[in-house]
Amino acid sequence: MNLEDRITDVFRIERDLERAGRERTSHWYASGAGDCWRKRWYMSQDVEPDSPPDGRGILAMDVGSYIHERIQAAISTYPGVEVEVPWRDEMAPYGGRADLLFSEPIPEIGVEGAPIVGEIKSVGSYKLRLARTGGPEWAHVLQAAVCAWYLRAEAVWLLYVDRDSLRTLWWRRPMDNSLARSALAEIDQVRRLHLDGRMPHRVIPGEDEAPDPDAAKPHWRCRYCAWRGRCSEDGDS
Ligand code: SF4
Repeated sequence: MNLEDRITDVFRIERDLERAGRERTSHWYASGAGDCWRKRWYMSQDVEPDSPPDGRGILAMDVGSYIHERIQAAISTYPGVEVEVPWRDEMAPYGGRADLLFSEPIPEIGVEGAPIVGEIKSVGSYKLRLARTGGPEWAHVLQAAVCAWYLRAEAVWLLYVDRDSLRTLWWRRPMDNSLARSALAEIDQVRRLHLDGRMPHRVIPGEDEAPDPDAAKPHWRCRYCAWRGRCSEDGDS
């Protein structure tokens, strides 16, 4: 075993221990709102992952979590800010946490009105550049809208942080109930397939083309998907 494999092994063991200690509150998290249907189905069926991330992937996730926590700590120094605010559906097994909940406006960072749900995303420099003109990713908007729906917020605030330079970009969007409703209807659709044991097609909400894990240049979600091998075997039937 070379040194790189040893490092990956240690990263995986640490990650698995950390995951084992975390309580699972639901199969259906808001963070999955824009995720691939098929992937969510594998998760809900407790299918054993076959393509765990390598050492670099785990490192990127750990750096992302570290930045996320530090940014939360920095923003919570403003008055009226709560972090990691849980929500749960009373009728269905949906749950999640909002990164931030603002109960007072903070004009200097574009938080106008209240209450407002805030979501933090650490991204690479390329994604930050794209977002300057193209806005936030659809999946992130959906996720924030679902949290805001349950926490009865009047708007969402999305913050992108560049992992390398710590440059930031933010957007405030008024709450869009129809968006939250459609995201919930879509989560429910995948949940019904889970209950029936029927596997969904490969679908990424908001995208016209189905992702293909076997493509020469697969979608980034497939590249980082822990069920890529299984999905390839199952085909898109
Ligand atoms: S490999 Fe791609 S298409 Fe298959 S479940 Fe994962 S993200 Fe979805």
